[in-house]
Amino acid sequence: MLTFVQNLGSNSNHHKKTFYNHTYMRFDQYSLIPQIKENLSKKGLKKPTDIQFKSIPHILKGEDVLAIAQTGTGKTAAFAIPVIHKIHLLKVKKRASGIRCLVMVPTRELCIQIAEVFNDLGKKTKVITRSIFGGVEQDEQINTLNKGVDIVIATPGRMFDLISQGHLDLKHIEVLVLDEADQMLDKGFYHDIKSLQQHIPKRRQTLFFSATIDEKIKKLAYSLVINPIRIQISPKNPVARNVDHSIVKVKMDDKRFFLERFIKENEDKKVLVFVRTKVRAERVMKAMSRVNIECLTLHGDKDQSERIQTLDKFKKGEINMLVATDVSARGIDIPNVEFVINYDIPEEADSYVHRVGRTGRGRSKGKAISFVSKDENELIFAIEEYTGDKIKEIKINLDDYQDTIDYSDDASQSWQSLIKEHDRVEGNLKKIHNKRRKQKENKKKK
Ligand code: AMP
Repeated sequence: MLTFVQNLGSNSNHHKKTFYNHTYMRFDQYSLIPQIKENLSKKGLKKPTDIQFKSIPHILKGEDVLAIAQTGTGKTAAFAIPVIHKIHLLKVKKRASGIRCLVMVPTRELCIQIAEVFNDLGKKTKVITRSIFGGVEQDEQINTLNKGVDIVIATPGRMFDLISQGHLDLKHIEVLVLDEADQMLDKGFYHDIKSLQQHIPKRRQTLFFSATIDEKIKKLAYSLVINPIRIQISPKNPVARNVDHSIVKVKMDDKRFFLERFIKENEDKKVLVFVRTKVRAERVMKAMSRVNIECLTLHGDKDQSERIQTLDKFKKGEINMLVATDVSARGIDIPNVEFVINYDIPEEADSYVHRVGRTGRGRSKGKAISFVSKDENELIFAIEEYTGDKIKEIKINLDDYQDTIDYSDDASQSWQSLIKEHDRVEGNLKKIHNKRRKQKENKKKK
């Protein structure tokens, strides 16, 4: 019988489809400036993903795009490649007159990450990309802007601060990119997006990206784009097709033992663990440190520099396990996350999609596993309804379940066993005692 950990491995090729259609022409056959081709090739990116194949030619032509695509599909490069290409080819005078492209994003992490993609793909070009976001001193960002920037990646708060102080001028932008629009609305940025329109030219190209779509998002999108090219990637099941996801039924109190075993048997793998709250994140970290597993947490109580440092350590592989809450980890792109573990099941079905989308990025295949306690079954049903797909269950037999608990190095576990054993003995003694008492009473009656 396979253990639940081995079972996971045996499912690895469950979904064979990926976002790649191998008949797509290679990037080196595109009419793009050679610097971009070289940068793509250095990153090992040879062929476009679906979203890139479908959007790059239209963006190059100057058309508006409305795309429903989740992170992990390669959507950042889908807009970064054509935007860098176009800005590089602009006349010097035009570039000198100010910022040409604004990419608006919901979170700081995403902001940093997208700027990184632009800077990577824009190496050796004339294009300068910078990010601006809150939670850090603004002076450095102002200095950077004053030196001259072509592309700004920004979160709404800091962006409006800098506009109102006169440090940021968006009057000359030619391309507006709204990324993760659904998240922007979730975070209450609707009015910010609307008021942005007062600061940017009416004549511009707009690229609108959202992982999900509903009436509100549609309305917002159509108030911004003109005759857009509509692109939808994996419309039916929003869980990336190269993510293999499954559930394991585990009692709430036993989850930490399963996590411990999983991490110890996958020591060299990068694992992103999701929990529902900040307190849970800290608790899981403590439970892991008791059994000598090193990990870090990412949540709303961490200040910006801590978050950046943590993400950096995880990205570089200095730590292999990160415990995160939903909001803190939305949209972040960390290469080579082999496993996502839903230690708690999210209450919102779309959070599930975002969570499992942290693995199986780009070309690689990923695995997501959810530890589901009895109380969380309902949430799984809701997720299945949302994705339109049944999530397969990895069954654990009783021996394997018990082995997982016995496997733990947690000292408190031995206490727990002792207490359980004590309760069991006590219970048995009580039963025997009651039986004897009843026997005595019956004898007396007779
Ligand atoms: P995104 O959807 O922009 O968050 O991209 C997710 C991941 O896909 C990143 O790690 C990229 O490096 C990877 N990626 C983007 N384009 C390609 C491509 N054409 N081929 C392979 N991987 C890619």
